[in-house]
Amino acid sequence: MMSDLNRRWYDEVKDLTERLVRINSVSPSVERENACAAAIQQALEERGVAASEWRMRADERKIVWALVEGGAVPAEAERVPTVILLGHLDVAGVQDYGSSLDPFDPVALRAHWLDQYRADPATSDERLLDAASGEWMFGRGSFDMKSGVAAQIAVMGALQREKASLPGNVLMISTPDEEVESAGLMDALDPLVKLRDERKLDLVGVINADYTAPRHPGDETRAIYRGTIGKLLCCFYVRGCETHVGEAFRGLDANLIAANLVRATNLNPALCDEADGEITVPPVTQKVRDLKARYDAQTPLSAVVHCSRLIHAWTPKDLLAQMTEAAREALDDAQQQRQAAWRAYARRHSTSEKLDGLSGQVFTYQELHNAAAAKLGLEVLSEELERRTFSTLTRTREALDALPLSEREFLLDRARLTDLDSRERSLAAVRTLVDIGLREGVIDSRRPAVVAYFAAPFFPPVRAVPDAGLSRAIDAEVATGAYGWTSAPGSGPAVNSAPRPGVWPLELRSFYPYVSELSFMRVDDPVYESLPLLRANFPLWREEGQETSANLWREGFGVPFETIRKLDCDVANIGPWGKEAHGCGERVHMPYSFETVSELTYNVILRLLADRAVGQAVQEPINLEENP
Ligand SMILES: [Zn+2]
Repeated sequence: MMSDLNRRWYDEVKDLTERLVRINSVSPSVERENACAAAIQQALEERGVAASEWRMRADERKIVWALVEGGAVPAEAERVPTVILLGHLDVAGVQDYGSSLDPFDPVALRAHWLDQYRADPATSDERLLDAASGEWMFGRGSFDMKSGVAAQIAVMGALQREKASLPGNVLMISTPDEEVESAGLMDALDPLVKLRDERKLDLVGVINADYTAPRHPGDETRAIYRGTIGKLLCCFYVRGCETHVGEAFRGLDANLIAANLVRATNLNPALCDEADGEITVPPVTQKVRDLKARYDAQTPLSAVVHCSRLIHAWTPKDLLAQMTEAAREALDDAQQQRQAAWRAYARRHSTSEKLDGLSGQVFTYQELHNAAAAKLGLEVLSEELERRTFSTLTRTREALDALPLSEREFLLDRARLTDLDSRERSLAAVRTLVDIGLREGVIDSRRPAVVAYFAAPFFPPVRAVPDAGLSRAIDAEVATGAYGWTSAPGSGPAVNSAPRPGVWPLELRSFYPYVSELSFMRVDDPVYESLPLLRANFPLWREEGQETSANLWREGFGVPFETIRKLDCDVANIGPWGKEAHGCGERVHMPYSFETVSELTYNVILRLLADRAVGQAVQEPINLEENP
C-alpha cells in the first residue's frame, strides 16, 4: 500500500475524478457533454489556469482547451516548445447498469458491490474482491477516462504554480464525442493549427490519458504506449444467383458465399498484423446479413459481411489485396461445394446430367466505379449514384424533422431506421453502383459477384518512433525506477528488478490496443501514401472542401489528413489502469491512476521541454557564442 508520504497527487485526482464521474456525459448530447466541459473549465480555473473552448461545427458542443505558458522560454526561440495533453470528456452508454444502479455515483456503486462481497466473502468474483480491497473507484467514466482528465487537470495546476521556470508550454485539450465518431477531435484540429500558428507553438508531443487495462486475466502490468493501433471496417457485398428454393441447384445462395467469407476471415491468425514486437488480434465479423426484405420462396439474392480489422503496419492497400483474395476463395469454394453436392445428389437420382458452372466475379469498389464511369462518363455516374443512394435517406430525415422531438426519439429508439447508420449508407451506395453495373453490362447478371469496399470507422495506426523526443523523455523517466520495472525487450533500459510494494511492472509498448484519438494527431507516410486507394474504395468518403450539397456532406465520412499532416506530433498514452471499460463493473485502480499517472505525466513533460530547450540551443550556435 501507498504511504501518505508518497502521495503528492492522490487526494486531488481522486476528488476531481469523483466530481467528473458524477456528471452524466454520455455522448452524443449537447447538454450532458457541455455540463462536463463546464466542470473541467471550472476545475482548471480553480487552479488559476485560464480555460477556453472551441465549438463543434454541427451542434456547438464544447471542446475545452487551456494553455499554461512557461516563463523560461529562451527569448531568442522562434517557436515555443509545447506539449499537448489530450483526453475525452464523454463516456460510453450506460445500458449495462440496468435500472437499479446509478452509473454516476461511485460511492453507492462501491457500497453495492461491497454488500455483495459481504454476503459471500469466499467469492472468486474479481469485481467483488476489488470492491473489498478499497483500492478501486467504480462508475461510468471512472476509468474511461475521467480519471485521466482529472490527472491532467492536477498536472496543469502544478505547472501553473511553477510556470515561471517552465521552458515551454503545456496545452490541455478535452474533446466530446470520442465514444461516437471522434467528431469533437476532428473539429479541434483546425483551431489547433490556428492556435499553433498564432502563438508560434512547436508541438513537441501529444500525451493522451485514455484507459489501460490488464491484457490477460491476472495481468498486473501497467503500460505506456508510444503509438496507437489502427482500425478499419472491411466490407463485402455479395451477389448470388437467385433461385426458387424448390430448385436449389439452379442458383447459388448469396448466404453460402457470405458464410465462406466469414469462415475465411473470422479469427484467422494469418490476418493478424505483426509489427514492432506486437501482434493484433485476428479479425472478427461485425455483421452478416442477407438483404432480403420479406419472406418469399426465392433464395436471397444478396448479402453483406462487415469485418473489423485491426492494423499495425498494414495499409488499406494491403487489406484490400487480402479482401479480394478472400472473396475469390469464397466464390470458388461455394462453386465447388455446389458441384460436389450436385454430384452426390445426381448419383442418388441416377442422373448423369451436368451442372452449369457459376464462376464468380470479384470487384473492388474502385474497379466497379471505374468500369461504370467508362460507360457513362464520370459526371453522369456521380450524379446518379448520389441521387439514388441518398433519396431514401433524405426522405427519412425529412419525415423525422417534421415530427415533435419525443416522437422522433421514439422512432429512432424503436424503429429500425437503419438508413441513418453510416455503414448502411455505404451499403446503399454499393447497391446502387452494382445496379448501374448490371444495367451497363459491367457485371454479368448470370454469375455471382463480390464487391470489396471500406466503411467507417477508420482509425489509422500511428507507429512508435523510438528516437523521438517524447519517447526519449519517457525512457529517461521510466529508467529512474520510480514507477516499477520494465521487462519488454527493446523497450528501453531494464531497471529495478526487485518488486516493491505499491509498485507494478511497467512496460513500454508500441501500440495502444483499444483505438484512440491519437490516430488523428499524426499520419505516418505509408498510410498517407495509400490514401488515394482508400478514398477510391470508401463509398462515403468526403474530402475537405469537396463540392457537394450541405445535405449530403453530413452523410459522408472523412478524416482531415492534410490538417493532421500539418500537426505531425509524436504521440504517447499514459493513462489510468482499471477494468471493465464500458461495462457496469467499470472501475479504476486508484493508487496507480491517481498518483503514478500524474507523477509520470508531470515528469515526462518537464523532461521533454528541457530536452527541447537544450536541443534548440544546440541548433542555434549564435546563441552559444553570445553566452560563452
Ligand atoms: Zn476512452
